[in-house]
Parts: sequence; structure tokens; C-alpha cells
Amino acid sequence: MKIEEVINEKPYLRSPLEFYGKIKNLTEQCKKDKEMLNLDSDTALIDIVLKNFSLVFQIPYESVLFLKDEILKSGKNPVKEPHSLWTLQVQGEEISKEEAERMLFILSKPFFVFLRKEGEQASFMDTGKCPVCGTDSSLAMITENNEKIMICPLCGHRGSFFRIGCPYCFNKDSTRIEILLDDEEIRAELCLECNTYIKSFKEDHYMKYRDPFLIDLVSLPLDIVVQKRGYIRRSPNIIGLRTIA
Ligand SMILES: [Zn+2]
Ligand SMILES: [Zn+2]
Repeated sequence: MKIEEVINEKPYLRSPLEFYGKIKNLTEQCKKDKEMLNLDSDTALIDIVLKNFSLVFQIPYESVLFLKDEILKSGKNPVKEPHSLWTLQVQGEEISKEEAERMLFILSKPFFVFLRKEGEQASFMDTGKCPVCGTDSSLAMITENNEKIMICPLCGHRGSFFRIGCPYCFNKDSTRIEILLDDEEIRAELCLECNTYIKSFKEDHYMKYRDPFLIDLVSLPLDIVVQKRGYIRRSPNIIGLRTIA
């Protein structure tokens, strides 16, 4: 399903879905530019991300250029450590703390995607975290063969994990994991040991939406229900939200 079609079906999700559309556009453009120009210089990659950020979010390029100076000045290298962008001190003139955090999350996204290599097979079994970028994941697909594939919200890597188990504390006792379903049968798996939850969906959902992050967003109401009950989402969704009130 295209994002526009989902918006027509679920107009109450228009704002997060439109925002996701932009982030997706940004990531795809950056990937394309990177491949086309065959860049290996880190500064050139930073340029690409800033240029596309300015285009997609319709912010004049001169207004985002200060970010490049801030990044270079800070000594952080987002190409090697995309996480490092999140703690960048942005001295913007008319920008609030929340806006700055949101902006840095969006900017970090293409760098996470750059980390991932096509065909990478590594699983989430060892640490429960993404083996490519080290992020916790809160989203999984259950395949027709009843295997669980975790999906990294940042770099997009997919890898297998225990069918029944909490990726945060490794509790594998099925009586200590509670399942909650929404009306589309997208599931929240609640760990009664550490209060972490992940959401999982079946391959049928995947066939319908063709995009795990879209499934994560259409089931936002499920996050709200589960978080009201005190369960914790350990990683942000594709638009940078972790606490969904
Ligand atoms: Zn990752
Ligand atoms: Zn747990």
C-alpha cells in the first residue's frame, strides 16, 4: 500500500504518515545520490544529507549549512557513528530543544542506512540489538514458517531472533510474555519480567502494506494502549517517537 492510500483509510494518522513520507523520501534520495556519485569522503556524505534535508523539508540550504560547521567543529563523525548526531549541541537562533532533537533524529536516519550493506545476514540472537548499528528494535515480523525476524528502526537491517523471547532481557518463558492484539491483529508482546514490549506482525500484514515501518505507524493506537499500562518501548519508531502519549 502507498502512504496516500493508508492516509485515505486512516485519516486520523495523516500527520505521522505524511511525516514518514518525508523521512522515507529523504532516505531514498540520499541513498540514490550516494550510489550515483560513488562517494567515499565523509564530508561529501554529510553534504548530500544536508542538501536533501533542505530539499525534502523545504528549508533554505543556507539555513541548514550551519549544521555542517557544528558537526565538523564537534569532532563527531556521523558517517561512522550516526548516534553521535543526537547529542550535537545546536545553537540555532529560533529553534526549540524539541525541534532540535527532532531535526537531529531525521538527519541521523540516512547515516544509519548508509551503515547497512546489501545482503547482510547477521541475526539479533546474541544481544537482542541490531548487529549493524547497535540499536534496540521494537518491531518484528513472524514469517509463514513461524520464524521471528527483528527489524531495526534506524538502519533497516533485518535479522532473526527467538520466536518467543524478549530482546531486552532475554526472558524466554512464554508464561511471562503476554500478547495483546489490535483490530488488525497486529500484536504487542509484553514482557512481564522487564516491562519491555515489542510489536509483531504476520507475513500477511507485510503482504498488505509492503513496508514494516508503515505497519508500525498504523498500529500507533496499540502503542498508546500498551504504554498506558506501563510498558516501555526501547527504540523509537521511524519518525523518532518512543513515548507515544
Ligand atoms: Zn540497525
Ligand atoms: Zn524483558
